[in-house]
Amino acid sequence: MTELAMGRTAEGQMRCPTCGAQQAWSDECRRCRCDLTLLRECRRTCDAHRRQCLRHLAQGRPDRALRHARHYAALAGAAEAAPLVGVCLLLCQDWRAALAAAVNAP
Ligand SMILES: [Zn+2]
Repeated sequence: MTELAMGRTAEGQMRCPTCGAQQAWSDECRRCRCDLTLLRECRRTCDAHRRQCLRHLAQGRPDRALRHARHYAALAGAAEAAPLVGVCLLLCQDWRAALAAAVNAP
């Protein structure tokens, strides 16, 4: 899923995937009344993986952090997650994968 598909904007708000209205996160679009609960739940899961990744990094467990970083990338998109995945790969001393990730970064 791409960042655009996740509906996140730079200001921490979201953009409705149906009509494009920008708004604060909510379960329903203010403009078209589209049900946004699944998108919101997906964003929560995505953010939870990011936080878990950072927590494991702070604990010195890059292997566990990498698993969460990859889940985060699958949900948030490669562009958003690439720096976190790259740091995890470097801390796991997987130089080849870190180089490949850097070369192929969006
Ligand atoms: Zn809408």
